[in-house]
Amino acid sequence: MRVAERVEDVVERGLCTGCGACASLLGNDVLGMDLSPQGFMRPRRLRPLNNAEQSAVMQVCTGRRQPGPVPDAAAPHRIFGPILHLAKGHATDREIRFKSATGGVLTALAVYLVESGEVDGILQVGVSANNPLENEVRFNTTRDEIVACAGSRYGPTAPLRDISAALDSGRRFAFIGKPCDVATLRNLARVDPRVELQIPYMLAMFCGGNPSIAATYNIVRRFGEDHRDVAEFRYRGHGWPGPTYLRTRQGKEHSQTYDETWFSNLTYELMFRCKICADGTGEHADVVAGDCWVMDSGKPSHREAGDGWNMHIARTDRGRQLVEDAVVAGYLHEEPFTVAELEAMHDDHGTKKRSVLWRLAGLVLTAQPFPDHGALRVVQAGLAASWRERWTALRGTLARSLKRRNRESPVTSGTFAPDTTTS
Ligand SMILES: Cc1cc2nc3c(=O)[nH]c(=O)nc-3n(C[C@H](O)[C@H](O)[C@H](O)COP(=O)(O)OP(=O)(O)OC[C@H]3O[C@@H](n4cnc5c(N)ncnc54)[C@H](O)[C@@H]3O)c2cc1C
Repeated sequence: MRVAERVEDVVERGLCTGCGACASLLGNDVLGMDLSPQGFMRPRRLRPLNNAEQSAVMQVCTGRRQPGPVPDAAAPHRIFGPILHLAKGHATDREIRFKSATGGVLTALAVYLVESGEVDGILQVGVSANNPLENEVRFNTTRDEIVACAGSRYGPTAPLRDISAALDSGRRFAFIGKPCDVATLRNLARVDPRVELQIPYMLAMFCGGNPSIAATYNIVRRFGEDHRDVAEFRYRGHGWPGPTYLRTRQGKEHSQTYDETWFSNLTYELMFRCKICADGTGEHADVVAGDCWVMDSGKPSHREAGDGWNMHIARTDRGRQLVEDAVVAGYLHEEPFTVAELEAMHDDHGTKKRSVLWRLAGLVLTAQPFPDHGALRVVQAGLAASWRERWTALRGTLARSLKRRNRESPVTSGTFAPDTTTS
């Protein structure tokens, strides 16, 4: 197998997840983190890296290697990974449940961890203080700070860009991020023992892929507004799933439904790395949460359904104990949820996982590097794909690779420039 061996290759061959760990490990005089011309968060090289620096990053980078679930995890479900505990539920706090992306399980767990003294703080992302369309990393130590970060940000985030500073501080903290962010942290734990000691809990959300920031700017343009006038922007939340909402500095408000945002004629680019992702369901996390969609004729519906419900999976003993403790302490409400319900509700993750083997085959045939997916059962899932699924995935990746559409700008190039025309 051919994996990328240099930061430059990870970025330029479309394998970077944009987590920011590399910039944090080497320092911001070596690598900066910026929005790339394509609108993804990417390391920007400020000087050439030496061999020691390249190998320090490559030991950790998920663009090179994502080895699979943690050792004490349960025997994995073929699509959804290790399941020690599965339930549906929501935060008991009404404000958290309302403001969060779904039912507020991740926020409630984070608040419980801080208020019980289990950790000193939460490393997570929230809306940028300088630009309501973009995001920044926060180390939160109070309930109000954590609740202010509730909600899903469907755009670039770099949650690990401050990971070295957080570890150097000696504080104990929990981490919340996407499955790939948590996978990078597990890689870091293999070379830095402080991760295991200082980050006792890693929480993730189900993730179908993270779009370019261009998608966000496109939504603003579709509302007929100039991005410089935006005062507040939410993708969802404040209901379930909650509308995509924009308020301008002049007080004008716009909103549209979840389906109008993601399933209408909006054109947006997912990262190429997301297309070959073998873990949209957070297999490396202690606890992962997703939507517990209302089902219509056996299919998930995204219509507004009032108070939010998550489905959540504890994957490790530590995660199971955390959920149990948060229920006993009154932070979480839980009800039974079955594996059969999970399979029907989140079959999009089955389709995605079955396709990875065939997408990787497309990369092999065009001599492109791809990540080592270790124990993520890529072959097992791929062999369960129908012939149609196999052909669609293979053909799509071959075409993409031959047209060089898996490639990104060099790590030395400029940054994203929003389109300023309004539609
Ligand atoms: C890019 C993306 C794709 C998703 N795809 C799916 C999917 O395919 N299926 C599904 O069921 N659910 C998906 N979700 C997850 C869903 O939107 C909810 O986050 C999840 O149900 C947890 O809900 P909650 O109410 O517990 O979260 P909340 O209590 O609102 O907490 C959300 C947490 O996620 C953190 N966060 C938000 N955005 C990001 C980000 N971009 N990077 C890192 N951390 C972030 C916040 O800091 C916060 O701590 C996706 C979310 C994102 C951001």
